[in-house]
Amino acid sequence: MKRWLICMAAFALLAFAQRGAARVHAESGPVSLHVSALPEGVDPAAAAVTSGTFDAAFKPIKSDDLVFVKSVARWYRLQLQADWHERSLPLLVIQNARFQPVTLYAAPEFQPISQYLAQSGRDPRFSRRALVFELSRNLGAAQSTYLRVPASTKRTPFTAEVYSEESYQAADIGWARLMTFFEAVQFTMILVGLTLWVALREKLYGFFVGYLVPQFLYLMVSNGDIYLLPGGQWLEPWGIRALWFVAALSTPFALSFLIEFCQMRRIVPHFARVLSWLRMPWAVLTLTALLPMSVHNGNSLQADIGNMLYLICGAVAILAVVVAWRRGSVAAGIFLLAWSPQSVFTALRAGQLLLRVPLPTWLEFGLPAVMSLSSLVLTLGLGVSTLQMRRERDHARDEAQHDALTGLHNRRALMVRIAEALTAARQARQSLSLIFLDLDHFKIVNDLHGHLIGDACLRIVAERIQSELRPGDILARWGGEEFVVLLLHTGRDEAETIGERIRCRVDSNTIQAGGESVKLTVSLGISGFAGAGPESPEQLIEQADAALYRAKSDGRNCLVVHPTFAATA
Ligand code: GH3
Ligand code: MG
Ligand code: MG
Repeated sequence: MKRWLICMAAFALLAFAQRGAARVHAESGPVSLHVSALPEGVDPAAAAVTSGTFDAAFKPIKSDDLVFVKSVARWYRLQLQADWHERSLPLLVIQNARFQPVTLYAAPEFQPISQYLAQSGRDPRFSRRALVFELSRNLGAAQSTYLRVPASTKRTPFTAEVYSEESYQAADIGWARLMTFFEAVQFTMILVGLTLWVALREKLYGFFVGYLVPQFLYLMVSNGDIYLLPGGQWLEPWGIRALWFVAALSTPFALSFLIEFCQMRRIVPHFARVLSWLRMPWAVLTLTALLPMSVHNGNSLQADIGNMLYLICGAVAILAVVVAWRRGSVAAGIFLLAWSPQSVFTALRAGQLLLRVPLPTWLEFGLPAVMSLSSLVLTLGLGVSTLQMRRERDHARDEAQHDALTGLHNRRALMVRIAEALTAARQARQSLSLIFLDLDHFKIVNDLHGHLIGDACLRIVAERIQSELRPGDILARWGGEEFVVLLLHTGRDEAETIGERIRCRVDSNTIQAGGESVKLTVSLGISGFAGAGPESPEQLIEQADAALYRAKSDGRNCLVVHPTFAATA
């Protein structure tokens, strides 16, 4: 049932993303362009390029061969294949520039206009999915537009396309709507985790929030939406380091959550230890992501170390989760279910970057979609592990209150019940009685028949005592061969009758245990409260014990009422 629900949620989310993606793409597409580029490393002054001096040096390239080049800047020239006739303005749309600034030199003035993802004061008509430059309405096919992209830390592809303003805006709204939806899902899950954490004070929810917040921030930074929030402009100078920071921050939190959620310390302790240690280098990486040295031109050592470490952590984590799952951890199974689609899409995204192919729309939307799905599944998993935790706690509480051999209340539980009963009796001016029972010469039974038969006898005697009690009477094993019966709303006479019944019942038949016949008798001491008498549970027990001592010295197999109870009742 749970799996079905998860599969349906996954299907619905992906279908939603696909539909949205299809609609984003369905708007009238980009117009065709001629693209050419200067050889890599040729970086003349802008005035020389825009005056057309270098036009002969621009060599045609395929329009999906636009790249940021490692360590050197590059110039591109764009030309429409036909004159612009549409009613709305032509827009040059640059996608996948990530945090790289791009500078445009367009007719008629060829003034440089630079844009980048984190830039404050960008055109509020468009989302931050892409860098959008307005071109001239009279753009002719012969007119060149120049684009300069700076040196990058590694070779990365980007796209440059020209759309009419109308069609681009329609597509952009579709994109913004979907991304807002995915961000909202993530944010809601964070709120759910936070509320449960505050209400239940269970640290697992704290780890859950710690896991989701950096992931949510990662989504917000890479979408550029974080820069639109109040105070977002403070993040602008950080550039791509903001992304590295949240990425580096998210991994140790994810590992902590993983260890806690899948109960790894108990189920796979070795893996838990390794994963705990693997969190350490991330603390260093998180701090160094803030240092300016991490954006030295052409050097992305930190990102490389981070990626490598990420691969190691991912491999160890997945192994640990699979082993925990094989060893019966339900939570680990749920984690696998939540994690697998996300890892597949992350791997696809990494592959796309590595192979320098343009980002397909289904992947662009698929990744945030599976991230939302993953947090949804994990929230469900959190419910499942909370239920499991509650069951374990109930079981432990049950064990703490009962005796393992007979299943009766133990001494600790009995004392609580006596204290409650005594308070209630005092308030309602009612009486209560307590019988202390001790088997006679039980040591001999053990000596003659062995401990196992002794144990069986204890169980049978417990059943015999229980059979003489009324509903509501409480029978407990005090320890060894001693039992206590608490009789609520019961005066001395009634207690004596019940005690006598128990004595006869034990005495009446020999006990058949393990193929042997054992003859047993029991001595009883009775104390009680009848408007006056013992002040505390301990005193009540003490008096019953003293009466029992008398019964033993009177020859055993008999019943004695404590004089205090006999006088007050
Ligand atoms: P008395 O009539 O004076 O009570 O004699 P007794 O032999 O019953 O008393 P004593 O206190 O000398 O010995 C109690 C014996 O109960 C000792 C121990 O072997 C036995 N006993 C205590 N707990 C258990 C138990 O859990 N299982 C078994 N089989 N025997 C137990
Ligand atoms: Mg005893
Ligand atoms: Mg005894």
